[in-house]
Amino acid sequence: MFGLPSEDWTLDVPERYFTLENYDGGVARWCPGCGDFAVLSAVQRICRDAQVPPEKLAMISGIGCSSRFPHYMHAYGFHGLHGRALPVACGVKSRRPDLHVWVATGDGDCCSIGAGHWLHACRYNMDMVVMVFDNHIYGLTKKQTSPTTPLGFGTNTHPDGAFLPPLDVAATTLGFPNVSFVARTFDWNPAHLYQTLLAAYHHRGTSFVHILQRCPTYTADVFDEVRNTPDTTLLLTHPEGVAVDPGVARMYKNHREHDPRDLAAARQLAQIPGQIAIGLLYCNPAAPRYDLHTAVGLGQSRERKLAGLERELDRFAI
Ligand code: SF4
Ligand code: MG
Repeated sequence: MFGLPSEDWTLDVPERYFTLENYDGGVARWCPGCGDFAVLSAVQRICRDAQVPPEKLAMISGIGCSSRFPHYMHAYGFHGLHGRALPVACGVKSRRPDLHVWVATGDGDCCSIGAGHWLHACRYNMDMVVMVFDNHIYGLTKKQTSPTTPLGFGTNTHPDGAFLPPLDVAATTLGFPNVSFVARTFDWNPAHLYQTLLAAYHHRGTSFVHILQRCPTYTADVFDEVRNTPDTTLLLTHPEGVAVDPGVARMYKNHREHDPRDLAAARQLAQIPGQIAIGLLYCNPAAPRYDLHTAVGLGQSRERKLAGLERELDRFAI
């Protein structure tokens, strides 16, 4: 931005230039080595690179370790109730369509107590980025089985191992009606994490990002295989998908050209036995958006609203 943009040396300097510090909400208090730090850093970089004014950002969360996210961003924030991040985010987007809404939720928060909202928020397809931090455990409440805890993994609620096979966050989301954007990434690959969240930021609709997230305190070794054996990763590529940095392309030798408009292929790729696909699984920019309807109400005059209400009540007149 501050290079030499034209031959006459004219600098088109915006009125305000935001640095990373402008998005910094204070010292993050996650455990050392927690993957949440990487996600926070990626989101702050995207906001800086896109020069989003902090007053145009709303960070919404439910309950859990990752739901402390709004505290660490200098922006509007709402640290909500357990499982309720998405209805709050939809409410904010309905009444403040000018805000860039980001949601931080976890595998327990989103996929258990918040599961009903998960389905309907995807169906509403309001314009926001939803980040699911999937560490395969309830971290804040100290190692309880979550819907994504691997079968047989010992937890405080199931000391002899989780009984049920886990659900996959991305694969499940791809089964929802009117879903418009589903991607997956790792917190431990900052370049891919950044590009995935950037693609999510640019998509108009609900951009749902499944982030595999390290929790060194309670699920220290669950991602060992995928982290230490790059062959278990399938890197999705496509001109309309997540941009792949050359270093990331070199890191993973298994690549697959995948058209993100192909929902059936996306569903298959989301759950490949022995492999984990990262990148953009599905994107439908034409999916209807509910926020385009809810926001229209803002422009209605009091008289028009009253007339509409009268019309509705008249239908019940006897
Ligand atoms: Fe992160 Fe796990 Fe610590 Fe929570 S318990 S802050 S998820 S490392
Ligand atoms: Mg969790």
